[in-house]
Amino acid sequence: MQLVEDFTNDFLNINTVIVALITTGLITVMTILTYFLEHRALRLRQPRVTLVAHGLEAASLVVSMLLLRQIFFTINSGSMLSWSYATAQLTVLLFSLYTMRNLAVEIINILMPILFYGQGMYFGRGAHFVATFITMTVLLSSAIIYFSRHRSSIMGSQWRYLALQLVYGGTWWFIIWSVHRFELAYTINVLIVFIVYMWIIRFCVQRISRLIDRFTQLDQKVNYDELTGVRNRASFDTVQAEVFKAYQDRPKLPVTMAMFDIDHFKRFNDQYGHMTGDAVLKHVAQHFEVALYKQTTHGQLFRYGGEEFVVIFRGTPADKARTTITAIRDDLQNEAVDFNGQKLRVTVSFGISQLQPNDVTFNDWFSRVDHYLYQSKEAGRNRITVEGNTLAVG
Ligand code: GH3
Ligand code: MG
Ligand code: MG
Repeated sequence: MQLVEDFTNDFLNINTVIVALITTGLITVMTILTYFLEHRALRLRQPRVTLVAHGLEAASLVVSMLLLRQIFFTINSGSMLSWSYATAQLTVLLFSLYTMRNLAVEIINILMPILFYGQGMYFGRGAHFVATFITMTVLLSSAIIYFSRHRSSIMGSQWRYLALQLVYGGTWWFIIWSVHRFELAYTINVLIVFIVYMWIIRFCVQRISRLIDRFTQLDQKVNYDELTGVRNRASFDTVQAEVFKAYQDRPKLPVTMAMFDIDHFKRFNDQYGHMTGDAVLKHVAQHFEVALYKQTTHGQLFRYGGEEFVVIFRGTPADKARTTITAIRDDLQNEAVDFNGQKLRVTVSFGISQLQPNDVTFNDWFSRVDHYLYQSKEAGRNRITVEGNTLAVG
C-alpha cells in the first residue's frame, strides 16, 4: 500500500508532467536533428562530415541532459533527488542509443554511471557499495555494447526491446541505489514507468522516422543520381526553370553556369574497365560536391548525363565562379587518385558563362556554355573557357 502511495506522490504531480513534456520535446528535437544530420552525412559521404554529424548528435545529448537537470533543479527548488527526474534522464540516454548510430553516444552512455558514482563519492556517499556499482556498470556496459551490435534486430522485436529496457533500467536503478539507498521494492514502480515511457517513445520515433525516411527516400530517388550521389538531370530541369524565372524578376542578381566534362573518359573505361570508369565518375562528382559545399559558394552541382556535369552559381558573376572553379579544378588534377591500386590522374574541361539580359530562352544561355566547353576541348582539353576566353592550363 505504501508503495502505491509513494508511486502516486512521485509520479502523479504537476512537476512530473512538466518533466515528461519537456523530455518529449527534447526527444523530438533530437530525432529531427539526427535525421537531418544523417541525411547530410549520407549525401556527402565524407568521413569528416560524418564525424561532425556524430559530434553534434553527442553534443545534443549532453545539452539535453544538462537542460533537464537545470529545469528540474528549478522546478524542484534546488533538490536533485527525484524519481521522475532520474527516469527522464534514463529515457533520454536510452533514446539516444536507439536513434543515434554513433560511438560517441555509446561512450557517453557507458561513462554516465561512472560520472554519477564519482559525484556520489565526492559528496561522501556510495563507498560501501563498490561491488554492486562495479557489477551493475559492467552489466550495463555489456548491454549497451550488445545493443549497438544488434540494433535492428532488437528494435524490430517487442520482446527483445522489453528485455533491453529491463536490463538497462534495472542495472541503472541498482547503480542509483548504490549511491542513494532506497526501498528496493520501489524499483519495480520506477521500472514500470520507465518502460511505459520508452514504449511511447518507440512508437513515436518509429512513426516520425518512417515519415522522414519516406520523404527523404522519395526526394533522393527523384532528384539525385544513384551512381554519384549528386543532383540529377530531372533536378537540373526544375532548378534551371526556377533560376531563369528568378532572373527575369530580378535581373540585377547575377547567375553563372559552369559546365564540365571529364577529358578522355572513354579511355578509363577502355583501359581499366567500366567499374573503374564508374569510380572515376564518382570521385570527380564527390570532389566537386564537397568542395562547393565547403566554399559556401551557393554552387549547385548536377550530373547532366554521362560524364558531363553542370554547376549553377546563384548570385555569382562569371569571374567569381571562375575563381572558385579554378581552385577546385587545381585540387582535382594535383592529386592522383588510387583506383584499385592504379594511380590515375583526372582532368576536366569547362565552359563558364553568366546569364545575360538578351538570353531570350534558357537554351540561349545553355548552348553558349556548351559551346565554351567545346572550345576548351578544342584548345587541347584541361582548360577553362569563360565568356569566350580560353585560359591556359593552371
Ligand atoms: P572528351 O575528352 O572529348 O570528352 O573524350 P571522352 O572520351 O571523355 O568523351 P566521349 O563522349 O567520347 O566518351 C564518354 C564515355 O563515357 C562514353 C560512355 O561509354 C561513357 N559513360 C557514360 N556514362 C557512363 C557511366 O555511368 N559509367 C561509365 N563507366 N561510363 C560512362
Ligand atoms: Mg569526356
Ligand atoms: Mg562527354
